[in-house]
Amino acid sequence: MLIFLCSQASAFELILPKAKNCEVTTNYAFFVGKANNSEGILINNFRVFTASNGAFAHSVKLNDGENRIVVRSSYNTQIYKILKKQPQPPKEEPICEFEAPKYGVTIKDDVPVFSTPSYADKKRFAHLFKDTKIMLNASKGDFYRVFLSKDDFGWVPKAGVKTVDNTSKEPPVFLNMNNTRYKNASVHTISFTENLPYSVEERDNEIIFKVYNPELSDSSVYTMNIPKPEKYSYQVSLRNGTYTFKVNELPKKIEDLTIVIDAGHGGDEKGAIGPLGDEEKDINLKIALELQEILKQKGANVVMTRECDGTISLDDRVSIARNNNANIFISIHLNSIGDYPMNIRKTRGTSIYYYNNNSKALAKILEGSVTKSAKTHNDKVRFGNFRVIRPGDYVGVLVEAAYMTNPLDSVLYHTPMFAKNVAKGIADGILEFLAK
Ligand SMILES: [Zn+2]
Repeated sequence: MLIFLCSQASAFELILPKAKNCEVTTNYAFFVGKANNSEGILINNFRVFTASNGAFAHSVKLNDGENRIVVRSSYNTQIYKILKKQPQPPKEEPICEFEAPKYGVTIKDDVPVFSTPSYADKKRFAHLFKDTKIMLNASKGDFYRVFLSKDDFGWVPKAGVKTVDNTSKEPPVFLNMNNTRYKNASVHTISFTENLPYSVEERDNEIIFKVYNPELSDSSVYTMNIPKPEKYSYQVSLRNGTYTFKVNELPKKIEDLTIVIDAGHGGDEKGAIGPLGDEEKDINLKIALELQEILKQKGANVVMTRECDGTISLDDRVSIARNNNANIFISIHLNSIGDYPMNIRKTRGTSIYYYNNNSKALAKILEGSVTKSAKTHNDKVRFGNFRVIRPGDYVGVLVEAAYMTNPLDSVLYHTPMFAKNVAKGIADGILEFLAK
């Protein structure tokens, strides 16, 4: 009995795969877990690197059909049977052109206009407000094609639109346009008799704000070339046919800044799981709380999307930022690896994501300041299409401090100073960004 207990206590434990028998459509299966003492791990006879805390991770390329994978150490053997199935090819829906254009009205705020009929499309012209009148000239799968002008069209999800009869006999009419400059902001308005669709495009020196009047026979586009300061955010609103586009210059002093700190995941949503069983949501929160402390000390107005372990939706996180007039939004996460071979020396460290141009400079600075302070590998700055950093209302970045599943990173994020060092790196970066 004693011998049995000893051997059990020394045996490795796997976090991934979740089941011994499973079906997948991925090309790789990940084996992530913890070995004990000097237990050497062999996966299909390949000796897997084990970090000083016992963490290991390894990917196995899967063949079509059944894959028998043997995970073995001197104490234990576990056999996994993974059935690789071919993913169902997406059903290619034909484009159905309408004989005559239909009219639609958006039934909620934030209805995205994509450049292609796909949710995976990273290019979005705009997010339409509720009750915007649009012209639809085709349908494909879950999307309608929106006619904007002779040269422009986009695709909106059908779930965000209801089709209506065109009750107004006359096309909408342009009323007026106005620009007002303030000390640290400029406000641009453009009014029509109805709510029309719009788009925003950030260029190097200006922002192009367009409103489309597709019902006119020559389908007019009203363009505002809006100058922008070096560090800025912008807000768009629509009320009774009037768009208000406000460009805010970012305050120069940290005391004048509202910074929203967003600890990723929480509650039932655990995020990624590490080799030792750690949950991403807990580490995110630790870093967020350290950052809160530092930024408060520096005098910033700090708002947290969560301060304890609870579930909060992505929309609510954005609403918190908007309601508090956030200048900067920092979302904190730890990364996980996608469906590609795991290279523990390469796929590790800190990556910083931005979506809007106004956030790229901060992302670049954080790349340097976080890797320096937390001594993480530099996993670069990337464009990332994440809900919480999409609004232009603030300078927003998503920090992936390290890789949850990487054994070397797992040693790092278990060190007592890791959360504090990441937080210090972020705070240093924000100060550097303001000083530039
Ligand atoms: Zn995450």
